[in-house]
Amino acid sequence: MSNRKLHPETEAVRLQTPTTAQHEHSTPLFLTSSFVFDKADDMRAAFAGETDDNIYSRYSNPNVDEFAAKVAAMEKCEAGYAVASGMAAVFSSFMALLKTGDHLLCCRSIFGGTVTVVTKFLDKFGIEYTFVPANDVSSWEQEIRPNTKMIYLETPTNPQLELVDLEAVGKLAKKHNIIFNVDNCFATPVLQTPVDFGADIVLHSATKWMDGQGRVLGGVVVGKKELIHEIYLFCRNSGPALSAFNAWVLSKSLETLSIRIDRHSASALKIAEKLEKNPQIEWLKYPFLPSHPQYEIAKKQMKAGGGIVCFEIKGGVEAGAKFMDSLELLSLTPNLGDSRSIASHPASTTHGKLTEEERAKVGITPGLIRISVGLEHPDDILSDIEQALAKI
Ligand SMILES: *Cc1c(COP(=O)(O)O)cnc(C)c1O
Repeated sequence: MSNRKLHPETEAVRLQTPTTAQHEHSTPLFLTSSFVFDKADDMRAAFAGETDDNIYSRYSNPNVDEFAAKVAAMEKCEAGYAVASGMAAVFSSFMALLKTGDHLLCCRSIFGGTVTVVTKFLDKFGIEYTFVPANDVSSWEQEIRPNTKMIYLETPTNPQLELVDLEAVGKLAKKHNIIFNVDNCFATPVLQTPVDFGADIVLHSATKWMDGQGRVLGGVVVGKKELIHEIYLFCRNSGPALSAFNAWVLSKSLETLSIRIDRHSASALKIAEKLEKNPQIEWLKYPFLPSHPQYEIAKKQMKAGGGIVCFEIKGGVEAGAKFMDSLELLSLTPNLGDSRSIASHPASTTHGKLTEEERAKVGITPGLIRISVGLEHPDDILSDIEQALAKI
């Protein structure tokens, strides 16, 4: 094929492991721990990094590489490396690129597992960190130190759907020559490509929208070649390898990512518009509703609002739990980004052991409900939420 530039949707469908002697159309599963060589010298050259030949599936595997290459293409990045989970992607990006004495500037509103990695484990390795607020990037520069090596953030944030101004952070990172690392899990490359705003590396929990059907765990880091190479070297030796089977599932899933995200976003917008007017609801947040405090940022950096809607139910923790118990269609499960719609109430579940004050600090209000809008008919999702609200 000529080397004309293809659209990301086409790359997601067509980028493929070279066809084998069987002339298969769809990529087969390469369930093999290691790869064979004809000659000792070929093996020597592979180990010396003189060739790209596969050696051992902890280092690389055709299914894993295909999945990573597709995500890299969709995120407009040079290179990518896939790992066993989103947390493996986060942790390896820190371990490969930070060292004792470095400082991490970290947005406060990040995934719970990432908070634990930063506060419990980076600390243990002597890596300093400062948490900064998602909604006030202008306050970040004063926290930059001579040893600040990386800026880390997620946008939209979980579960409050705050938006971080990627353009502003990109400029800051460039000015101070700091690695800019974005967890793009909530938006996916369909809605937002952080490298357009100066991100150096972008990572994902592929478990969520990329799989999109709640089946397998996976993670991926994409970005500049030299940074991804560091991550590869760390992973090759520390072992968070993605299974070939999961990679095969995820690579197939990417073929439908853009049409799924379009549908998730359209349904979520429709549901958000309707629920915003519901008298049982104190406030509702959705990035593409003009009522969102950072609507302008959403319009600047996202193509649509995504599949997550959050709102505060009147009546606090009890009303939140009653709402959850009254749902008939939506699933109660600690995941998101599934074809099945999911409801969660952090105050009575994931954050149930904290005091109300502690919860407030991380943005968990008593009646906060997060809906991951699935691929069911939007009217059925909406009517289930409405009937549950009516039972409070
Ligand atoms: C779920 C999630 C992770 C962690 O991913 P796993 O695949 O569960 O390890 C990281 N970041 C965000 C934003 C997530 O939602």
